[in-house]
Amino acid sequence: MNLLIMGAPGSGKGTFSSRLKDNYKLAHISTGDIFRKNIKENTALGQEAKSYMDKGLLVPDDLVNRLVLDTLQNLPDGAAGYLLDGYPRTLEQAKAFDEATKGTANEVETVLYMDVPHEVLNKRILGRRTCPKCGEIYNIYFKPTKEENICDSCGNELSYRADDNEESLKTRLHEYDSMTQPVIDFYAAQDKVTTIDADNDFETIWDQIQKALAK
Ligand SMILES: [Zn+2]
Repeated sequence: MNLLIMGAPGSGKGTFSSRLKDNYKLAHISTGDIFRKNIKENTALGQEAKSYMDKGLLVPDDLVNRLVLDTLQNLPDGAAGYLLDGYPRTLEQAKAFDEATKGTANEVETVLYMDVPHEVLNKRILGRRTCPKCGEIYNIYFKPTKEENICDSCGNELSYRADDNEESLKTRLHEYDSMTQPVIDFYAAQDKVTTIDADNDFETIWDQIQKALAK
């Protein structure tokens, strides 16, 4: 089973990636992890990627494609397929990946698109508060504390991430949509996209995913 999972920041993509990986025995491939691994092991591709990152530049599509394909050639024994996370990020990457894998054992079968309305993503991300002392996570909309801004567990004052302000989040979500919509359209034209209504509780979402994959 070869899957792509796509979803905006706050869509729950990370949570369901790890459940999918465990449940279907998939190799979870995220481009961030591949970069780190290749750089750490000082491979030729890793050195090439590092030369861009050291200059603060984006790693070019062509190199990202080669890193992903190289990883797919060396999936761990026993993996029943892969779960790609954060790739393809652009239409160019999707086209190149499709061309390289079409008709092979590594062709994408299903694209899971974790769909959450922007106003919900806003609340999930901007409403998030954490306790710096005990690590408990709250949300002023979905999981408020009994006393405003005070941790229920330990009584410490809560904190929030300063970069999660409304303007920067709006920009991030807009960028995400404009970059990924063409990728979703590309796979939709091949009838591979399943949209998951991810504005739901965990079990309802997991149920939708399992049904989609049983087809
Ligand atoms: Zn606490």
